[in-house]
Amino acid sequence: MRIIVKTTGDRTLEEVEEEPPGRADGPARRLFADTPQADWDNWKWHFRNRITTVDELARYIPLSSRERTRLKLVARKFPLSITPYYLSLICPHDPDDPIRRQAVPSILEVTMGSVGSEDPLQEKRDSAVPGLVHRYPDRVLMVLTDICPMLCRHCTRKREWHKGGWVRTPEEIDNMLAYIRRHETVRDVIISGGDPLTLSTSHLEYIISRLRLIEHVEIIRIGTRFPVVLPQRIDDELCAMLSRHGPIWLNTHFNHEREITPEAAAACDRLLRSGVPVNNQSVLLKGINDTVEAQMRLCHGLLRIKVRPYYLFQCDEVQGTEHLRTPVEVGVKIIEGMRGHTSGLAVPTFVIDLPEGGGKVPMQPDYVLAQTASELTVRNYEGRVIRFRNPGASTEQEYPERADSPVAVPVPVMTTKTRRPTRQGGARHEDRVSVRP
Ligand code: SF4
Repeated sequence: MRIIVKTTGDRTLEEVEEEPPGRADGPARRLFADTPQADWDNWKWHFRNRITTVDELARYIPLSSRERTRLKLVARKFPLSITPYYLSLICPHDPDDPIRRQAVPSILEVTMGSVGSEDPLQEKRDSAVPGLVHRYPDRVLMVLTDICPMLCRHCTRKREWHKGGWVRTPEEIDNMLAYIRRHETVRDVIISGGDPLTLSTSHLEYIISRLRLIEHVEIIRIGTRFPVVLPQRIDDELCAMLSRHGPIWLNTHFNHEREITPEAAAACDRLLRSGVPVNNQSVLLKGINDTVEAQMRLCHGLLRIKVRPYYLFQCDEVQGTEHLRTPVEVGVKIIEGMRGHTSGLAVPTFVIDLPEGGGKVPMQPDYVLAQTASELTVRNYEGRVIRFRNPGASTEQEYPERADSPVAVPVPVMTTKTRRPTRQGGARHEDRVSVRP
């Protein structure tokens, strides 16, 4: 908290301003004490000066010679890349530091490396054209590059790290755009990577502006970890470009409350002021954020910077990540410990992304103890058991799927021809409700 003194005419006002959560003193910024502030504020400086070898890392974090040998072994299979900014958040003397464990390799990546598979989500199989994953009817994923500013040790796309940094060619981008143009069911395009914000702003604008020419593309989403690992990238030029091509949503990836620094908060604020809503997708990681308290602190911190906790992912079964994975029950218990104990806005949806391209499935605590066609017996977050009358359908045609006779009904796919026109300009009067004081 800090006190700001303002003078208006002959009056002096004192205002108390809450500082964003995170560590305002920038603890290990001291590791880069000789770096001029102008460089520190420049994302390209951070990108050029990423720590990519074990010997460089040892200049900042104490590593025994045994550790160095082990890490070099890991880095041959799974390379490392850490931005100076993210490195500055690490407590150098704590091997179990939750920030460090996301960035610094572990020998367990290779000793447990046979567990899991390279591509459990079968993204390669579901690629309609190179770089474009089309799994769900109304949305596609464009993978534009495999370059990331930081290589997160729990990454689902670790398989790409060996390939040494590629960006889709103009021809590949054209093929992806042509596919989207041909498929009228696609209303939502997710731009991902690697990290798509490693591309220059002008390159990104070229792709986004061409997507915007496709009538049936309603929204564009960008998946990026830049606000967390290199928030300086979210500069005025990028925000101005994004605001020209809305609606654009941005999904980022905070995993721990200590990542919510003043720099990260400012980056999210710039996006929000440019009309870009920011959601968070975190991954449940052993020893990093696998308790109710850790998730509460993370989600409360996110809400304070106006970022919505959206998904909490079960860590995918990717080779080299087993040491960071938790049993599914841990995630369900965390949601149970949050739901009702804090505002619903702070509770993410816990999901498993199923192998073989099965898609995301929410995992929830079971609150329904018994159910008939006319009544449910439900426990609440305090464990109280309460009965709830289930309103009956007046005819079987009205609700053919009764709770006691689940029937799968195919959902029609909407195209531009069958989709109801989207109303522009907000809600009409009849959609509004009055809220009594
Ligand atoms: S930013 Fe995302 S894609 Fe890149 S290494 Fe981290 S988890 Fe993987």
